Amino acid sequence: MTTPEATAPSNFIRHIIEADLKANKNNGKVKTRFPPEPNGFLHIGHAKSICLNFTLAEEYNGTCNLRFDDTNPEKESIEFMEAIEKDILWLGFQWHEKHHASDYFEQLFDYAVQLIKQGDAYVDDLTPEQIREYRGTLTEPGKESPNRNRPVEESLDLFYRMRAGEFADGAYLLRAKIDMASPNINMRDPALYRIRRVHHQRTGDKWCIYPMYDFTHCLSDAIEGITHSICTLEFEDHRPLYDWVLDKLNTPCHPQQIEFARLQLEYTVMSKRKLNQLVTEGHVSGWDDPRMPTLAGMRRAGFTPASIRDFCERIGVTKKDAWIKMDVLESCIREDLNENAPRRMAVLKPLRLVIENYPDEAEEIYDIANHPQKPEMGTRKVPFSKVLYIEQDDFAENPPKKFKRLVEGGEVRLRGSYVIKCERIIKDEAGDIIELRCSYDPATLGKNPEGRKVKGVIHWVSAKHAIPAEIRLYDRLFRQPNPDAEAHFLDALNPDSLQILENCWVEASLAKAEKESRYQFERTGYFCVDSVDSNDQKLVFNRTVTLRDTWAK
Ligand code: ATP
Ligand code: MG
Repeated sequence: MTTPEATAPSNFIRHIIEADLKANKNNGKVKTRFPPEPNGFLHIGHAKSICLNFTLAEEYNGTCNLRFDDTNPEKESIEFMEAIEKDILWLGFQWHEKHHASDYFEQLFDYAVQLIKQGDAYVDDLTPEQIREYRGTLTEPGKESPNRNRPVEESLDLFYRMRAGEFADGAYLLRAKIDMASPNINMRDPALYRIRRVHHQRTGDKWCIYPMYDFTHCLSDAIEGITHSICTLEFEDHRPLYDWVLDKLNTPCHPQQIEFARLQLEYTVMSKRKLNQLVTEGHVSGWDDPRMPTLAGMRRAGFTPASIRDFCERIGVTKKDAWIKMDVLESCIREDLNENAPRRMAVLKPLRLVIENYPDEAEEIYDIANHPQKPEMGTRKVPFSKVLYIEQDDFAENPPKKFKRLVEGGEVRLRGSYVIKCERIIKDEAGDIIELRCSYDPATLGKNPEGRKVKGVIHWVSAKHAIPAEIRLYDRLFRQPNPDAEAHFLDALNPDSLQILENCWVEASLAKAEKESRYQFERTGYFCVDSVDSNDQKLVFNRTVTLRDTWAK
């Protein structure tokens, strides 16, 4: 038996797999799959499923397939498939084989024919309303369709003609013949095939009948020889049907379906229908808007693959639904970036500062460490000159108690440079502060000043060297931990989830910052170069996360 990595936290799925391996079930093999429907981008919930399926396969020397569950062509597209592949690779996983449920359409059709021949499926022509009415309720059994005992030959003939396109959409259904009185509604003669004339992104117009999820999924798993078919809890009630289909068709491989609780993350929605609505109605800029819980959005916001994998490991795998706090995700990315992101200085809301006793044309260039605790990350050159920008918030005309930054007549240290003193404030006609006139103490470069203590340290950029930038401050997209608790989830949208600062200045070393590169802007947060809108003419940074948890409690 293979032993899993000592570091892998145990969970009930691992226990099942280990028992199977011990019993030499499936000849000691582990084959999993990740089966997205290509009807949207992947989100952080999918990441949980991806990490689980791929990691289990890896740990037990098995394989994990990617299978597109593409049986609803009206909502699916090739673009979504490409986005899904990109996101899985970005997370750091590589599938063993790539398949599409649509690759199996012919085989699935044959299986359906076999069920009809065995007397286990029949063609029905009840209307959708009748089907609903005949289905019964949770407390009442259903009623058998008058077509249920249609002779096999007749069902077979109708099924072939359904495929041949002889009937209108919805005119007939192929249904499994199971038990209209079953307490499990999924077992009350569920539909297996429906007529639908829609162009399929891969099979074109070859088919006008499409198999239903419950029929397709178990058979696709069986065809691929999947051993453990891991899915979310809402499919628990579908498991008897999963097993029924495979038993009736006596497939050579009968995967075991195992359900786990889906990820629910506070302040987000995870349903693709809702995410799609956010996109199509323009509440966000696209599937990759940095506020979206999609992997594309999180990548654009500056999340690292490692932080997402770390998150998926920390939340664990259980059978019980639970809401995960946003802090858990945010601490994963903070820890990663604190460790790995180079430090830079950027001024988000600039205030001009002139050092009057500094020579007009003089310049100094400092070597400042990229990371205070990691000398191996090297240094970068930071120019200094007479005119600087500092953060408006780092100066106060009427300072609150314990204000450690700059005040009129007070001193502060410029990070990596001198101690300066504010001599005078310059205001415009409206009375707004537009400039600070300061002096510097030449003896304080890398040294404490003589005979006095200067506590505050602020960041700055040299006006003549700084690079203009746009900085986008993102906040949570919803102001409710559970947006669905509102009458409509859109009512929970946070109106202040994006603040665009157009007149920021960043230090000169960022001139050539590459798209998606990540930094800690000292004292302001973690930022990432926007992959879409940033270019040589205009640098755009997205805030990934604040330095500390500042969300209003
Ligand atoms: P939606 O209902 O929003 O369309 P879905 O679950 O149907 O989402 P799929 O593309 O079918 O989306 O999902 C692919 C796989 O990812 C499935 O195995 C599904 O169970 C899993 N998955 C989807 N959402 C989550 C989630 N929030 N947490 C964990 N796994 C998830
Ligand atoms: Mg689905």
